[in-house]
Amino acid sequence: MENKIIDGKHISDLVKDELKVKVEDLKAKGITPGLAVVLVGDNPASKIYVGSKKKACQYIGIKSFSYEMPNEVSEKEVLELIDTLNHDPAVHGILVQLPLPAHIDEQKVLLAIDPSKDVDGFHPMSVGSLVVGAEGFVSCTPAGIIELLKRSNVDIEGKHCVVVGRSNIVGKPISMLLLKEHGTVTMCHSRTKNLGDIVKQADIIIAAVGVPKLITGDMIKEGAVIIDVGMNRLDNGKLCGDVDFDACIEKASLITPVPGGVGPMTIAMLMNNCVISAARLLEENIIDN
Ligand code: NDP
Repeated sequence: MENKIIDGKHISDLVKDELKVKVEDLKAKGITPGLAVVLVGDNPASKIYVGSKKKACQYIGIKSFSYEMPNEVSEKEVLELIDTLNHDPAVHGILVQLPLPAHIDEQKVLLAIDPSKDVDGFHPMSVGSLVVGAEGFVSCTPAGIIELLKRSNVDIEGKHCVVVGRSNIVGKPISMLLLKEHGTVTMCHSRTKNLGDIVKQADIIIAAVGVPKLITGDMIKEGAVIIDVGMNRLDNGKLCGDVDFDACIEKASLITPVPGGVGPMTIAMLMNNCVISAARLLEENIIDN
């Protein structure tokens, strides 16, 4: 059973170590990648996420700039900060930790980020670039899933990929990425009829729903690869995925656990986007000179 598990923690550590080397190289060429992290309010989960991102920056050698704003800060002040960061040459990536307090329009804030610094990949320009296959930042969780599949030697081309969930941050972008890798993609959501029958046809299943153990053992085709994005906090405090892990591992050829699967890859890919952003700047400078 052990060798069926895709170890996201191990793979994310490999990615981070590779990035460390790239950052050393960039530093030697005069550029220190910089990530600005904007946190509004005191949401405890957001504070934990921001803390993990800063820790990863420190490990890799990325300079992190932290901006903590009180819950009652105005939308105008947040937009002014984004504008300052857009023009700051030491900042190569801007991350606004979501969710924002209700009085701040999330879309307006995301739209204000310069797409060349949109390392979270949530700007409509980044999303559009993904759809048309142009250069742009890919949001971190979907990018992490592709990395997990590739590093586990899963061939996506021609495979039937069933994505359960159609959110803007996971379901839609991962579907586009699987399509780019020449998968045959089916998207399912809460109105899908006969979910089990569709999932049963999948060679690769991506579950991004937010419902604990929605994907059961009887929905799995023998040999399927299962990527569980779900992170559901149960009443007993434990984290649980969208997949019934114990029942599905029997039939799966590969499966991600929760925790320790997709989760660690999200931060690693954020770091990757930040390094890409700094490296692009270096390339532009070389071309300009
Ligand atoms: P959303 O709530 O934004 O989207 C959930 C999607 O699941 C919707 O498209 C919804 O359909 C669909 N859905 C809900 N119930 C069912 C059902 N019974 N059958 C089929 N489809 C259903 O969630 P996110 O995409 O943001 O997150 C999904 C999960 O992934 C969550 O557990 C979240 O915590 C986790 N997550 C983990 C990350 C990580 O780094 N590991 C990062 C991001 C998310 P409809 O559109 O019709 O409403």
